[in-house]
Order: sequence, then C-alpha cells, then structure tokens
Amino acid sequence: MKSWTNEFMAETDFSVTVLGCGGALYAHHRHPSAQLLQIEHHKFLIDCGEGTQFQLHDFGLSPFAIREIFITHLHGDHYFGLVGLLSSMSLQGRNKPLTVFSPKGLKAVILPQLDALQRDLSFSLRFVEVPTEGASRCIFETDELSVWNLPLKHRIPVSGYIFREKQRERKMLKEKIQEYGLSIEQIKAVKRGEDLIIGEEKIGVEELSLPTPPPRSFAYCSDTLYLPHLAKALEGIHLIYHESTFTTEREDKALRSMHSTAAQAAAIARDAGAQALLLGHFSGRYADLTPFLEEARAVFPRTYLAEEGKRYEVPKVRQNTMDS
Ligand SMILES: [Zn+2]
Ligand SMILES: [Zn+2]
Repeated sequence: MKSWTNEFMAETDFSVTVLGCGGALYAHHRHPSAQLLQIEHHKFLIDCGEGTQFQLHDFGLSPFAIREIFITHLHGDHYFGLVGLLSSMSLQGRNKPLTVFSPKGLKAVILPQLDALQRDLSFSLRFVEVPTEGASRCIFETDELSVWNLPLKHRIPVSGYIFREKQRERKMLKEKIQEYGLSIEQIKAVKRGEDLIIGEEKIGVEELSLPTPPPRSFAYCSDTLYLPHLAKALEGIHLIYHESTFTTEREDKALRSMHSTAAQAAAIARDAGAQALLLGHFSGRYADLTPFLEEARAVFPRTYLAEEGKRYEVPKVRQNTMDS
C-alpha cells in the first residue's frame, strides 16, 4: 500500500490498484491497460487489456465483486482481456449481473465470441454505450458515488471516466436528539447541513452534528492527445491517472499517434489543481521510466509512476484546504 505523502491521512476505502501500465505492445513485463478502483464496497474495473484476469489472480484480487467495467476505447490493449475474463467468471459460476460501459461498438465485438462458446454465461451481461463527444455527463450513480464520461481525443472515439464520491450526510450527535427533542424531519435537516430554529432560538448545525470527510474523486484519462482544455473538466479532481506514452523527446511521435507526453500529463494535473498524478501507458520503447518521472515532476511535483500490483490511495483533502 502506498500513501502519497504524510500530509494525507491513510484511507483504505478509496484506492486504485494498477493491473497494467504498459502501452500497446507487451514489453519490460508491463501489461496493457487495466486498473481496479475500489470506493468503499464498490469495485470497478477500468480497461481490460490482455491478461487482466491473470493479473487480478496474481495480485490476490477477485473479479467477483466487480459489477461494472468501464472500457475507454476499442484499441486492443484496452479490452482484449474482456472475453477471457467473462468466460472465466462464467466457468466459476458467477451469478451477479455485470454491466460493461464503453464507446459504441464493443458489444458487436464481444457477443459473437461469447456465442461461439456455445454455452450461456452464468450471469446476465449488459452493455451500455458511452458518448465520446460533448460535455462530460453522469452515466452511472449509486447513493454513494457517481461516474462521469470524459470525451478525449485519439485515433478512434474514446472516453475517459471520472469517479466522484457524494458528500456524506453529517453525523448526528445522539445526545442532542434527546436534549432538544428533535423530530425525524429536524434530524434529516441537520444531516443535510441545515441549522435549526427551535422556538426563538437558532441552533447551529455544528452544535448538533459532526462533519463527514469531503468527497474524493479519481479521473482516468487514456488514451489521448494532450488536451489543455481537459484541465477545466478535471478541476479539483484529487487523483488523475493520465496516459504518458512518451517523454518530451518524442513529442512529435506522441502528436502523430495521438498520445501524450509525461510533461503534458503533468501540465493537465497542475492546471486542474489535482492533489496527485499517476502516469501510465508507457511505450515499450522505454525500459527505464525515470525520465518520465523527472520531466513530469518538474511540472507537477506530486507525480507517481504506475507500477503493476501497487495500490494507490486517493488522497484525502486536508481540513485546512477545505476551510480556505
Ligand atoms: Zn492504448
Ligand atoms: Zn489507443
């Protein structure tokens, strides 16, 4: 487990485990893109490059708790592991339903392969098409969190994803319920953060309840050309994962293949006011990734390299940041 810095308290219920941090071609033991995001009891798989099921297995992570998979685009290094994963889960008798979010076209690629197996999956599988143009919008939500698409620019349609916790209700102080004889409606109002008027007296919400931690967020941006305007859509996101296929030395190559450099990814994190940046999708041309870290940290110091099997906690916002 890895903490960003000592400034942030360790949190165990919002973390990203990197399963694959390589680019399109397998090299230097780096697998294609996949990450497991955990937010409280929710587990989301983001991208599913070839070998994802083996990576999950080797890192002691079960795919059975995953209810939603988010695929960014239809380049093979982002979804070639999907049929194998689905097939294996069925062989093991999975019964929880599974939803796969992706840009248009994935269902038409996956279903014929599953049909060719000539046996039904043991669970229900649903595909949801995600827009790859226009403004970011909410595509999935629960009581605790929401997921937003994030149109990016690449050689084919692509959408990144933003995961946001919802603000939890304030914690009611039980003794105050008795002291003021509060009704259910009044308790609900306090939990929403409202002051109460009792008789002539105004009772502040701080006296009646305790604050809950501010919501955290994670954005996954891969694959994409450097898009300076992305910083606005990512404003205030706590942890940004941004692809950095190349270093600045190969910026022309990045432009031609519609990828980003480490310095460009860092500029996005800096301009968005992120708490931390995770780099990945490293080209197989690079055995040593130190230059990625060096050039990115020169722009945005709180940059980290994605390492397979490592779990990265999404940093908690400091209290004084909130107050300022
Ligand atoms: Zn890729
Ligand atoms: Zn791609």
